[in-house]
Amino acid sequence: MHIGMAGAGLSCAVIGRALAEDGHKITMLESRTHVGGNCHTERDSETGIMVHTYGPHIFHTDDDEVWDYVNRFTTFKPYVNRVKATTKGRVFSLPINLLTINQFFGTTMSPDEARNFLEERADTSIVEPKNFEEQALRFIGPELYEAFFLGYTRKQWGKEPTEIPASILKRLPVRFNYDDNYFAHRYQGMPEHGYTAMIENIIDHPNIEVHLDTKFDPENVQDYDHVFWSGPIDTYFSHKFGRLQYRTLDFERSTKEGDAQGCAVMNYTDEEVPWTRITEHKHFSPWEDHDDTVIFHEYSRACGPDDIPYYPIHRTDGDDILDKYQKAAQQEEAVTFIGRLGTYRYMDMDVTIRAALDSLSEWCMERGL
Ligand code: UDP
Repeated sequence: MHIGMAGAGLSCAVIGRALAEDGHKITMLESRTHVGGNCHTERDSETGIMVHTYGPHIFHTDDDEVWDYVNRFTTFKPYVNRVKATTKGRVFSLPINLLTINQFFGTTMSPDEARNFLEERADTSIVEPKNFEEQALRFIGPELYEAFFLGYTRKQWGKEPTEIPASILKRLPVRFNYDDNYFAHRYQGMPEHGYTAMIENIIDHPNIEVHLDTKFDPENVQDYDHVFWSGPIDTYFSHKFGRLQYRTLDFERSTKEGDAQGCAVMNYTDEEVPWTRITEHKHFSPWEDHDDTVIFHEYSRACGPDDIPYYPIHRTDGDDILDKYQKAAQQEEAVTFIGRLGTYRYMDMDVTIRAALDSLSEWCMERGL
C-alpha cells in the first residue's frame, strides 16, 4: 500500500517504520524544516551544546517494549531528571519530597511525621478531587500548593487551577523520602546524540520518503491508500467546529560562560516571575564538556493560529468542540489520527510510542494484515 503521513514526529516515525518494514511505501510530509516534531534537538550554533529546541524532553518509561524499541535506534546515556524550583527567593527540590517539606517548613521530620503533618494540613473533606486545586489541597495542603503550584499553573495554563483536571497534578509524585527523581519509572535516559538523531534512525528505511517544509493538504488524502495524521485534529477539518485550545511556548535564548544555574531545569513557581522555567541545556549531556552555556527562559501563552501548538488544554467541564472532532474523525475511514495533536492529548514520549504501536496493531487487525 502507499501510506501518506502528515508529520515526521515520533508517532509517524514509529508507525511509518513498522509499515515500511512490512513492505509498504511511506510518504511523510513534514511542514517544518526538520523531523522529530517537538522532541527536536540540535546543536546550538554558537556553543555546540545539544539543545532541546521546543523545551526539555527527558525519556522515561515503565514499558519494556517501548524501552527496547528506543534502544534499537540509539544509545541512551544514564540521566535522571532532578528539577529545582525557586519561590520567594529560595530554592527547593521537586517533585515535593522530604527535603522540600523539611526545608520549606524548617523542620526535621521523618517520613511518617511528614505524612501526618501534611495530612493535618490537607483538606480531608475532599473525597474525590474534581480538579487540580482540589487534588493539591487534598494531598499537600494550602502552603505547598500556593508556593509551588498555584502561580506556575496559572502561568502555564492561563487558567485557574479549579478549571484544570486533577490528572495534570497527578503527573507529579509526592514523596515522603529524599528521592528527588522527577519520575517514578524504571527506565530513564537521554539519547547520546539527541532525539532528532534517534528519529532519523527510525525513519531511515528505503521504503520511507520524507519531504520537509511541505504541508499535508487534507484534500490530498485520496492520493494514498491510507493516511496517518499527526497534525492538529481541528486543522484536518479546517476548524469547521471551531478552534481547539492549545498553549504555545516562547523561548528566550541567551549564553553565558561556565555554568548559569547548576541544573538542567529550574522552575519559577511565583506568579510575578513572567517565565515558567529556565532550561540550561548542557546539563542534559553531562558526558560532554562545554566552556560556555546556553539557557532558555520559557514563557507560556495562548496559541494563536500561526503559533506552534504545544499543550492541548483540557477542561474540567468537558469540551463539546473536541467531541465533535472526535466523532468526525471516527467517520474518516481513510485517515487515522495519531499523536499528541491528532488525538488532542497531553502525552509523554513513551506514551506516544506506546499509543503509536497500539494504534498500528489495531489498524492492521481491522484490515487482516
Ligand atoms: N506544576 C507546577 N509547578 C511546578 C511543576 C509543575 O504547578 O513546579 C504543574 C503545572 O500545572 C504543570 C503540571 O504540574 O503543567 C505538570 O508538570 P510537568 O512537570 O509534568 O509539566 P511538563 O514538563 O510536561 O510541562
